[in-house]
Amino acid sequence: AKETGKGRAVVYSAREQGPPQHDISLEAAMFSAVREGEFLLYYQPIVDARTRSIEGFETLMRWKHPTLGMVPPVRFIPIAETNGLINLLGAWALKSACAQILQFEEAAKRELYISVNISPRQFRNDKFLGVLDEALALSGMPGKKLVLEITEGTLMVDPLHAETILTKMAERGARIAIDDFGTGYSSLAYLKRFPISVLKVDRAFVKDLPDAQKEAAICSAVLDMARHLDLSVVAEGVETEEQLGWLSARDCRYIQGYLTGKPMPAHVALAALQDNHYT
Ligand code: C2E
Ligand code: CA
Ligand code: CA
Ligand code: CA
Repeated sequence: AKETGKGRAVVYSAREQGPPQHDISLEAAMFSAVREGEFLLYYQPIVDARTRSIEGFETLMRWKHPTLGMVPPVRFIPIAETNGLINLLGAWALKSACAQILQFEEAAKRELYISVNISPRQFRNDKFLGVLDEALALSGMPGKKLVLEITEGTLMVDPLHAETILTKMAERGARIAIDDFGTGYSSLAYLKRFPISVLKVDRAFVKDLPDAQKEAAICSAVLDMARHLDLSVVAEGVETEEQLGWLSARDCRYIQGYLTGKPMPAHVALAALQDNHYT
């Protein structure tokens, strides 16, 4: 067993949901899906909480299976993480996303950033920095437009190795975001130790705002801490005006959620940016 933290929990819960048989056939189907080009990328806007202008997009992987339909990432990412296919899929996502954001910028006629999820196994892979360099070189995208999203668990597996890799990512201009912040390990020491720029507050803390007192206290504390540490915060899973208003009033700079834009295919995002649908 190599996986720890969030990765492991997700693997087990995904396995427990359906009969094991199903996942084995799903796993077999994944290999042909790669050859057949059934994997797609969707893009979800990350907006400024005050102005609602789009500042960037998060890349979210989709699998369009010919008969099963859309297979959600919570089902296939853990399998890809186990069999190693995540390295191939993740490299493809990173390269595609870097090229895509330049097209988005051209349509929007302004600067945008792209946020890409990096799984624990990808992060630990020897070839990861090579893949990152290739993605930047092939697309011609400056590293500063890139945000790499990793979870607390990814950092904690081997903090010494993590520090080395994060430093090299930062040297390329990329910013590091802690994904699902607050749901993983509770040690905050790494915020000081590692070159981290962004905290993505998990939807678990956002979904019952503003009424839920404990969640509200946690969000306020995270926002306070982030301000003192000079980190920016993205609130995930914002679905209502009330949530947005509450967060914005507490100086949460960025919002991501169904309220301000669902994950969408690139052509839909492009059309919206072209029409200046999003200012
Ligand atoms: P995540 O990185 O935390 O991504 C955010 C998830 O929240 C996405 O689910 C997104 O569609 C969903 N979401 C966004 N706004 C809302 C909202 O307002 N309400 C609700 N209920 N949900 C919202 P999705 O696309 O199903 O992805 C699930 C997870 O799969 C991601 O969680 C991430 O951990 C993983 N994943 C997706 N794409 C990739 C990828 O390219 N690489 C890796 N390594 N993991 C990925
Ligand atoms: Ca993410
Ligand atoms: Ca997240
Ligand atoms: Ca999540």
